[in-house]
Amino acid sequence: MTLKDLPVGNTGSVTAVGGEGATRQHFLDMGIIPGTEITVVKYAPMGDPVEVCLHGYELTLRLDDAAKIEVKETSAADRKKQHTAEAISEHTGLGEGGRFHPKGSGDPLPENEILTFALVGNQNSGKTTLFNQLTGARQHVGNFPGVTVDRKDGAIIGHPNTSVTDLPGIYSMSPYSSEELVSRNFVLNEKPKGIINIVDATNIERNLYLTMQLLEMDIPVVVALNMMDEVTGNGGSVDINTIEAMLGVPVIPISASKNQGVAELIEHAVHVAKYQEKPLRQDFCSEEDNGGAVHRCIHAVRHLIEDHATAVGLPVRFAASKAIEGDNLIISQLDLDENEKETLDHISMQMEKERGLDRSAAIADMRFAFIMKVCSACVKKPEESKESVRSRKIDRFLTGKYTALPIFICVMGIIFFLTFNVIGAWLQELLEKGIGALTDVINNAMISGGVNEVLRSLVINGIFEGVGSVLSFLPIVVTMFFFLSLLEDSGYIARVAFVMDKLLRKLGLSGRSIVPLLIGFGCTVPAVMASRTLPSERDRKMTILLTPFMSCTAKLPIYAFFVDAFFPKYKALVMIGLYVLGILIGILVAFLYKKIMFKGEAVPFVMELPNYRMPSVKNVAQLLWEKAKDFLQKAFSIILVATVVVWFLQTFDFHFNIVENSQNSMLAVISGFIVPVFAPLGLGDWRIVTSLISGFMAKESVVSTLEVLFGAQGGISAVLSSAAAASLLVFSLLYTPCVAAVASIRRELGFKWAVYVVVWQCLIAWTAALAVSLIGMLLGA
Ligand code: GDP
Ligand code: MG
Repeated sequence: MTLKDLPVGNTGSVTAVGGEGATRQHFLDMGIIPGTEITVVKYAPMGDPVEVCLHGYELTLRLDDAAKIEVKETSAADRKKQHTAEAISEHTGLGEGGRFHPKGSGDPLPENEILTFALVGNQNSGKTTLFNQLTGARQHVGNFPGVTVDRKDGAIIGHPNTSVTDLPGIYSMSPYSSEELVSRNFVLNEKPKGIINIVDATNIERNLYLTMQLLEMDIPVVVALNMMDEVTGNGGSVDINTIEAMLGVPVIPISASKNQGVAELIEHAVHVAKYQEKPLRQDFCSEEDNGGAVHRCIHAVRHLIEDHATAVGLPVRFAASKAIEGDNLIISQLDLDENEKETLDHISMQMEKERGLDRSAAIADMRFAFIMKVCSACVKKPEESKESVRSRKIDRFLTGKYTALPIFICVMGIIFFLTFNVIGAWLQELLEKGIGALTDVINNAMISGGVNEVLRSLVINGIFEGVGSVLSFLPIVVTMFFFLSLLEDSGYIARVAFVMDKLLRKLGLSGRSIVPLLIGFGCTVPAVMASRTLPSERDRKMTILLTPFMSCTAKLPIYAFFVDAFFPKYKALVMIGLYVLGILIGILVAFLYKKIMFKGEAVPFVMELPNYRMPSVKNVAQLLWEKAKDFLQKAFSIILVATVVVWFLQTFDFHFNIVENSQNSMLAVISGFIVPVFAPLGLGDWRIVTSLISGFMAKESVVSTLEVLFGAQGGISAVLSSAAAASLLVFSLLYTPCVAAVASIRRELGFKWAVYVVVWQCLIAWTAALAVSLIGMLLGA
């Protein structure tokens, strides 16, 4: 039978892994190898994907992929036996004096040499938390597989001559997604002086798989055994001395979030890098392991390719195992002779024959066999941890068959309600009043002081009206980010991906796309970057092209401004309507893309579901502060400049005389050329056109420009009908993302796609706005 046919709650032992290429390698790397026991936990509410549990962690798989995995159902009695074998004696655990110190050969690197470290580990193992502890930086931490998508560098506190790079999380050194390639290339090509391998101790089997490959890199490694607080808190422990001896590298138990053990980690890391103490052991295959076929094969290939690997600067042992696995990138880099290629093939074939497994599975199996040996010698598994019991309970509702979707919709609804109607709106009113009062005070002071009229107009009508109106939206933006970060930090977004996968697949996306799309409600720039976690180029491109349909927070001021002026009674309704409209049009476009541009199937959806965790106050506060800072910076740079330029252009004519009526100003003349394009939408007023153009710089400046050009809201209600206002709202919802977003799209997809997004969004926006204004006219609004 296949995994797909295994009923919920039952366990099977893997007998064969189908599929091919990178996908299959990914299954193997995730621990799905012949002999592994897999338990089916539950199906997503829509029946696909399925959540399974293996080696003590939870994975999601699509049914199509589950059908490729052959299993044999095992009885509970078989498993009991294994469980008792695992129970081992007490260990002291966290804080144990276990240290690994062969002192340096007395030949340290020169003083001025910068010690570069790569921070490598599985997704969600706490890399960013540790990075922040090491460097004092404030990178964003999230409880979703793949939050760190860009590499970041920083020096360790107290060691100015060091540089640590936080790399994207990876499960293996076989490149599967583009970010895995980033991490692998960093280690292979930039040759850091040391690797800090962060291992999630609550999930040690899965994490050590990567460790084993890192040890092959021939670079000094220290293992940071993270989350020890959770392990010891639940009665587990790790024998640090033994695990160090078995792995041949220093292992330091830490808790990154509680800053325990980090000082010791730094000490060891700096030491091994300084003295270039390589791992004592790279040879994990064993003669006793299933007749030693894999062992003989690896060693034979190792010798076969040694000269080639050394010549191109690849670590030999690593290159050997990759060559056997059939990693094409490595094989072509090795530049083997025809004879050698044939020999390689023959050796591997012989191994397959003797071992009874294909080459990739055999290598993965060898690694896991060693890991099992290490774990049974050193690890006392915690009782089922409080965290995972809690997660399972919560998941019964949040991913339950009948509850998952309603809860998701409710959660999003509550977030929008609180942001727009309660918390955000209330804070906004407060701030608005404050800014208004300040403006009055300054205005009166300037009048009574007899300040020059032009200068007063610049300060009051330009800067205060413009920047002030944008500033008052700070609370809404921050509130929105606050809720998004709660969702992400708690681990809920990963569940949403699981629940929504089937639906998104109908659009040709994968469950993982939900993350960039949800982040898109905050800001398109990080959303575009978050798409890097998508393993397939096709999914990634499509997700990026769809993020602009998710209305970002910077557009909120526009909505609020027009809703207040035109539809005050239907505030929440219109707001939500806009968001929904954006999503609906996005869905239509996705269908179009799927049919025309991006044919073919979405790639497998193999994702770990992290335990729910309490979002840390510090972490959330940090994020909010960043976002607020970004917003303020933008208000006082781009938007300030934009308002001043707009003020200038509308105050003077081409002879630099002050105009009585701004209709004669430079701005009116310039915008006049484009006005005809907007006339069919009912937006044929040069001031509106100008403000929309300024929105390309930053969406907030649409409002600031309107304020400068119209004065208060009264002015604008005189110019526009409600139908025109509606069409303007729809246009702002859909038209080109701001410069910053376009720039990030260019970084991800290249110049052509960036131009495409600008043109395409404007076209869609224009068409949709036309439709709205036509409907409005028919209804006589
Ligand atoms: P990354 O994806 O590897 O960069 O992991 P993050 O640094 O984003 O952390 C993932 C999650 O693990 C976050 O929710 C952290 O708060 C949590 N975390 C990190 N270190 C520890 C730790 O030592 N103990 C516990 N209990 N949680 C931790
Ligand atoms: Mg991270």
